Amino acid sequence: MAIAVLTSGGDAPGMNAAVRAVVRRAISRGHEVFAIHEGYAGLVGDSPRITRMASTDVSHILQLGGTVLGTARSSVFRTPEGRRQAVENLVMAGITQLVVIGGDGSLTGADCLREEWNEHLDALVADGRLTPTQAEKHATIGLVGLVGSIDNDLWGTDRTIGCDTALHRIVDAVDTLTSTARSHQRSFVVEVMGRRCGFLALAAGVCCGADHVVLPERPAEDWEGEVCAALRRSQALGRRKSIVLVAEGAKDRNGQPITARRLQRVIERELEIETRTTVLGHVQRGGTPSAYDRVQSTTLGIEAADVASGGPEAPVLLATAGPSVVHVPLMRAVRKTLEVGDALRDGRYQVAVNARGPEFMELLAAHSALRASDVTASVQRRLLFAHVGAPAPGMNAALRTFVRTVKAAGHLPIVASEGLRGFFNGNTVEPDVEGISSLGATVVGTNRWWPSSPEEVGWFKRLLKSQRIDGVVLVGGFGALQAAGNLKGPVAVVPATISNNVPGTDASIGCDTAVNAICEAVDRLKQSAIGSRNRVFFVEVMGRRCGYLARAAGLGSGAELVYTDEQPLTLGRLEQDVRGLNAAMDAGRTVGIVLVADGVAPPFRAGRLADLFREASDGRFDTRVCVLGHLQQGGRPSPADRLLATRLTQAAVSRVLSGEPAALVGIEEGRVKATELQAVLSDADVDARRPLSSRTVLPTFTP
Ligand code: ADP
Repeated sequence: MAIAVLTSGGDAPGMNAAVRAVVRRAISRGHEVFAIHEGYAGLVGDSPRITRMASTDVSHILQLGGTVLGTARSSVFRTPEGRRQAVENLVMAGITQLVVIGGDGSLTGADCLREEWNEHLDALVADGRLTPTQAEKHATIGLVGLVGSIDNDLWGTDRTIGCDTALHRIVDAVDTLTSTARSHQRSFVVEVMGRRCGFLALAAGVCCGADHVVLPERPAEDWEGEVCAALRRSQALGRRKSIVLVAEGAKDRNGQPITARRLQRVIERELEIETRTTVLGHVQRGGTPSAYDRVQSTTLGIEAADVASGGPEAPVLLATAGPSVVHVPLMRAVRKTLEVGDALRDGRYQVAVNARGPEFMELLAAHSALRASDVTASVQRRLLFAHVGAPAPGMNAALRTFVRTVKAAGHLPIVASEGLRGFFNGNTVEPDVEGISSLGATVVGTNRWWPSSPEEVGWFKRLLKSQRIDGVVLVGGFGALQAAGNLKGPVAVVPATISNNVPGTDASIGCDTAVNAICEAVDRLKQSAIGSRNRVFFVEVMGRRCGYLARAAGLGSGAELVYTDEQPLTLGRLEQDVRGLNAAMDAGRTVGIVLVADGVAPPFRAGRLADLFREASDGRFDTRVCVLGHLQQGGRPSPADRLLATRLTQAAVSRVLSGEPAALVGIEEGRVKATELQAVLSDADVDARRPLSSRTVLPTFTP
């Protein structure tokens, strides 16, 4: 089989990871792989830019932004004659499968090509440009689509390739602006990308605690009055700064763009606040892809190569539902996307909001609850918040969500200082949650203790009763689960641990930030080896006996080998791996990365493996050991962790207020889901502190 891959339309970080995975997976399955350069422009004309790819042609591109294949907008391809040339060039190159990575325009173009395929073949044979035999051998073209677009604007997928990275760029910028805005008591209006979709503005608004967001999906009748009311409310609460985020495609009800400048004029005129505008522009597109965009695009690329290997079938779009890849009929997704555009143009805004899916709606609700006044009108119930276990980035976003949503619902938040041990000792705090979402670790401290013996559980329950606590939200890892199992009653557990070892959820708060930290560290290690060459790094990562973090970081950093406790290392496998790495070095690889989870059995720890591989390399390479340690646990939380913390905590508060039995509030295939604690605990391997049956299955991929 001959499989070709191209990138088209707007570039998006993560496209390279997808190209790399398609090329390497397809080659490993024994196929010929071609790259088409400059999008459809490389497919039309007399000298098409189609090149045969080797595995090494995609070396060192995983961490690069943009697309190494180039992208262009081709007007020629929009014409039937242009597409006829494309058919001719594809047939001449022997290509039978096409993997297209682009936005809805690129996918529409690809489908057009596929639909007209036979018509063009007949015409090319009639013109003598192809022989009947050639036409017969290429009777169809298989088509697999991946969505590259930073706007997250395609129907049917949780995330488009590049969106998470763009969110990183925006959140970094807004966090930075927030500190200067606070110093000067200023207001900032920040315009972010999103011509037809407000996801970036909304998500960044939730991550950064923006005072107001202006979205294409939500134009208010009186948008000027709305923004002024939001900023007045912030002023009344004593906030020193205000941030307004506006999507570039936001319009008023007359169809006139609501630009950053327009907002600035309104704020300065009505509120007399010094206001600055920042248009982030193409900065949002650039730079190294986030860990999510590397991992998810690699996963999508692997699946694309597997689907293409199966031969021509109905054109399919590979979409994401959380960490899973789902198959969606290609043109259905494109048609639905175009319908959302029509709905926005016709003023049917609710149709557009509904089409964006549950996450968008949850974030809309969170945004209004999180800006709520800190004044509680009448206290109905008393809810306790406590951390259990190690700190994880994103815990502060959970705390902020808890305090604000509980207050917005008219209840009293009680926050334990230093975890359940602190509460037991009478330590509670009234934290100021303003601006804490961007801070790492936890501002209220945590502790590893939880009531475990029957006496402790008895005391603790009596304490909850005497304090008139109506419900408890525990934010933490495996320990939080065990604590909730002991306490029972109206308890909700929000999983927060960088090792993502809690059963009942695809993701835990903090894990995404940690994977980003590992990927950044490995990028640096690789760069450090440029001078020395022929070096293999053995990098020890956290996770203990749960290998999720190592496997995710392995995909995101392009590690050659990943060792975890779940797949015990045998001497046979070790020998095979040594041979594989030696062969890769003989074939020209100069740097290698081996990730080792810190919970593997002692003989297979990073240091020992490094010695062993060096001895067995016969001088091919040198080895170095790097223990990343606690730097994986610190740092500013990533956007994905802030969003996850917000969504899960919001749902956890509803859960405890509903009076339903104790539950873990996790995420499954991108949807928030509460699972009764007993079911979650029955899937827990308590000794190894990991799920018995992990839902978070990542593909294995040897680069
Ligand atoms: P995106 O893929 O990011 O939405 P565009 O809409 O610019 O970006 O599309 C990229 C390219 O895809 C265009 O330059 C054109 O070559 C091709 N294309 C887009 N729409 C069509 C179409 N309806 N028919 C044929 N080709 C199209």
